[in-house]
Amino acid sequence: MNPLDKLITHFEKFPGVGARQAKRFAYHVLTLSKDDTAELSKLIAELRGSVNECASCHRYFNTQNNEQICSICSSNNRNHNRLLVTERDSDILAIERAGVYDGLYFVLGGTVPLLNASENKKLRGGALKATVEARIPTGLSEVIIGFSVNPDGENTARFVESIIAPLLLEKNIKISYLGRGLSTGSELEYADVETIKNALKSRT
Ligand SMILES: [Zn+2]
Repeated sequence: MNPLDKLITHFEKFPGVGARQAKRFAYHVLTLSKDDTAELSKLIAELRGSVNECASCHRYFNTQNNEQICSICSSNNRNHNRLLVTERDSDILAIERAGVYDGLYFVLGGTVPLLNASENKKLRGGALKATVEARIPTGLSEVIIGFSVNPDGENTARFVESIIAPLLLEKNIKISYLGRGLSTGSELEYADVETIKNALKSRT
């Protein structure tokens, strides 16, 4: 395969990018100046060294001294007894923008599609169970399930429940749902600040 086709194949693997768009991206790269091309390839090459996956919540964060825990998880100003499970990093950014959530997060890493029974290997179901188990003795008081309001999001919520509900019910720990405050079909990532504030306030 020639380099251009190879690049197109890489872009096709990006979320939400189809074959046509992948081609457009690749041809756009060809129009970049030498400097921009050099900067882009340098950024991609160096990204791994400047961004770590938080060992606690699994979100990606910028690091200067190779810290393993992100600023949210290591903050004393956050309520460590509250855990909000999201699909992806960008959901956390949306919730942080609303500025009303003071607890910690857990990034599941994807959804369990309703129409595709095959297990998504990237999902951190086992890690979520371990996190909840580890936090129960230190006073975990609530787990908030924060997925988008669509069939896949609801199916993922059921998947998460099946993992953690037995652990939580036994200890009388609350499970609440952010989705009930969002309108049907809405993606958390794209919800505006007011919607997220209301969803958090009215979570049940
Ligand atoms: Zn973290």
